[in-house]
Amino acid sequence: IKKIGVLTSGGDAPGMNAAVRGVVRVALTEGLEVCGIYDGYQGLYNNHIKPLDRQSVSDVINKGGTFLGSARFPEFREVEVREKAIENLKLHGIDALVVIGGDGSYMGAKKLTEMGYPCIGIPGTIDNDVAGTDYTIGYMTAMNTVIDAIDRLRDTSSSHQRISIVEVMGRHCGDLTLMSAIAGGCEYIITPETGLDKEQLISHINRGIAKGKKHAIIAITELMTDVNALAKYIEAETGRETRATVLGHIQRGGQPDAFDRVLASRMGAYAVELLLQGEGGRCIGIQCEKLVHHDIIDAIENMRRPVRNDLYELAEKLF
Ligand code: ATP
Repeated sequence: IKKIGVLTSGGDAPGMNAAVRGVVRVALTEGLEVCGIYDGYQGLYNNHIKPLDRQSVSDVINKGGTFLGSARFPEFREVEVREKAIENLKLHGIDALVVIGGDGSYMGAKKLTEMGYPCIGIPGTIDNDVAGTDYTIGYMTAMNTVIDAIDRLRDTSSSHQRISIVEVMGRHCGDLTLMSAIAGGCEYIITPETGLDKEQLISHINRGIAKGKKHAIIAITELMTDVNALAKYIEAETGRETRATVLGHIQRGGQPDAFDRVLASRMGAYAVELLLQGEGGRCIGIQCEKLVHHDIIDAIENMRRPVRNDLYELAEKLF
């Protein structure tokens, strides 16, 4: 291969820029040419493709978001749209594509791979919901953002003997909620993995009040329930003022932390290495500190993320 393309897709995540930089700089070092595809699969379809050099990725390692832009582009599910995308790639002489994104973006990469176009997936999402990797790029930075918010809520909740619900991102994966809740010392964790048991929640809160706890912070993953309605329910059942805070998109922004910058740089470099070895249709992960790669089709169809029962048990003991 002589020329590769790189795009970022789906929800943005801190560290995506560092990953693009890793791909670009290592590819150039290895004598490859690199093109940036702007606005994810949408830009691929619209032929929004430009060459990138070393300077194109200067001053981005410390920046949140993605300078290439990202987009939700459901049209990419249509085969004609993907055919046009491949045509555009060939028009630019691009032999292979690196896709940085979450599981949705992997679906697009899987479909291109099935159509005979080699893609490598790099897990870039704050949700940590991608199979075949312990950590995704952006997850650790987002966790620090959530912890900061929980710390602030704790201050004001303690002062007012208030119950706080904090809604955390993660879509259908509870990792971000779970680990942030442990680090933030939350009283109760509700994730897609645990489900929501309202009776158990109330008796847990009441046990805390009986122990003399001044506050209760409940961490819950998004999309599980209406948190404002849950707050009203808790207030009615416990007699304690209860407020819900939805952290929302602030979790996606901000400078990537050291972990994400290093992870992104390593994964970007590894993607280029794999392409040079003639690999395609792979997705990259880090497992037990080692970079690994899996068949992207197998990863999407068969691999599942392990549920961190050890951490749920730990959280239970720490309350
Ligand atoms: P995050 O989870 O952080 O939001 P994501 O990559 O999972 O990131 P999605 O919006 O699910 O975000 O997917 C990103 C893009 O990938 C979609 O907008 C679409 O262009 C493409 N995509 C998703 N699913 C498919 C599919 N089944 N076939 C083809 N392309 C897809």
